[in-house]
Amino acid sequence: MNTARKKISKNHTSTQNPCKLCSPLGASLVIRGISGAVPLLHGSQGCSTYIRRYLISHFKEPIDIASSNFGEDTAIFGGGANIKIALENIIAQYQPEMIGVATTCLSETIGDDVNMFIYEFLKQRKEIPTPPIVHISTPSYSGTHITGFHRANLEIVKTLAAEKTTTRKDHINVFAGMLSTADLRYLKEIFTDFDLKHMLLPDYSQTMDGTLWQQYQKIPAGGTTIDQIKDAGNASASLQMGRILNSESESAAKYLNETFDVPSYELGLPIGIKETDRLFEALEEISGKPTPQKYVEERGRLVDAYVDGHKYVNGLKAALYGEEDLVAGLASFLSEIGIVPVLCASGGESGRLESTLNEIMDKNISEKMKILEGMDFKNIEAEVESMSLELFIGNSKGYSVTRRKEIPLVRAGFPIHDRIGGQRILHVGYRGAQNLFDQIANTILDQRQKTSDIGYSYM
Ligand code: SF4
Repeated sequence: MNTARKKISKNHTSTQNPCKLCSPLGASLVIRGISGAVPLLHGSQGCSTYIRRYLISHFKEPIDIASSNFGEDTAIFGGGANIKIALENIIAQYQPEMIGVATTCLSETIGDDVNMFIYEFLKQRKEIPTPPIVHISTPSYSGTHITGFHRANLEIVKTLAAEKTTTRKDHINVFAGMLSTADLRYLKEIFTDFDLKHMLLPDYSQTMDGTLWQQYQKIPAGGTTIDQIKDAGNASASLQMGRILNSESESAAKYLNETFDVPSYELGLPIGIKETDRLFEALEEISGKPTPQKYVEERGRLVDAYVDGHKYVNGLKAALYGEEDLVAGLASFLSEIGIVPVLCASGGESGRLESTLNEIMDKNISEKMKILEGMDFKNIEAEVESMSLELFIGNSKGYSVTRRKEIPLVRAGFPIHDRIGGQRILHVGYRGAQNLFDQIANTILDQRQKTSDIGYSYM
């Protein structure tokens, strides 16, 4: 249908409702997924407020993100003094096991040498016990929340992973990407069922989706432990999920492979049967064990559901948007169930979304797709104007477009701030595909009932 599968130029001068979030947000979430860790944003308070607002509205959990509190004088003379005060305060108030320092646009723009500030701070405190401090460079003007997320993983592993002393059989490192807390819990269940000890980085399944507290906790329990990260070089393999991530020149799994010779399995986000099969094949190879019967049955039920619901979804046209690896995973899943994702849009600008989708999609489907990077929702709305669509799939940021178009939205990814349970949407594995399939089929049926002149109650 459309051959213009390139980044298109914007028809307006400023970005309006970007299809991405800011880079230190991803880094902050990673830090919140490490046991005892506190995120510190080196910049103005507004950045940390904005990021807290987005994380809280999605996860419905309190989240502390410290700020080095830039003012006008700091913007001119640099934030060296501020960052040292902030680090002192965090250590005194939280007694953290790690502090992750992510930079904001302002501190990046003025060129603050954060590594030097941290070095000086540690030198001043060389007689005083001080937790590890990890610097993550996250200029938002050259990346997205996903860039910040993956960079945080890389910097944390680079800083903390200790020298290799052995190879621990049946120990794996897992870099699963920015998934929901339900996804993380399900992945851990799968690894446990394969008898694999795992270092899932980050693991915010508890810290960002915990139980009701009787008393306020400054740092919520849970998360990847510092000892697990130190031991990452001794694992027998790393799993890295995300086809766009895998094509980056640097990543945590690549670093562990190059530095400690830990074999790296590069997978897509395991969404849908094809990509989940690849995950299970990797786990069978690493563990030397067959897939547990429980997952064989989950897969079987999923295939049965595809057959049962085929007539409702086959041939539909959908617009898909979000972070690039999620778009790639969801597009692969949609093609399995016969839905054509005629628009695949992302705010990311890796330059590899189109080639990635071409790799995973059948040619007869990818030829019908328009693939756009660097998008905001104003552009997405303009693109879908001439398209005949039955469905949108993506996060809550696109809701206003779907409302104006009167086309239903199936929510997936991050952020989901107009529904309860966004953090618990299951996307991955056979069980996640089952959830998405049921959601999509039922959304279509609901829409047909609503728009029917006669009304019907039996499918
Ligand atoms: S100024 Fe930059 S770092 Fe701060 S909130 Fe905005 S995009 Fe994020």
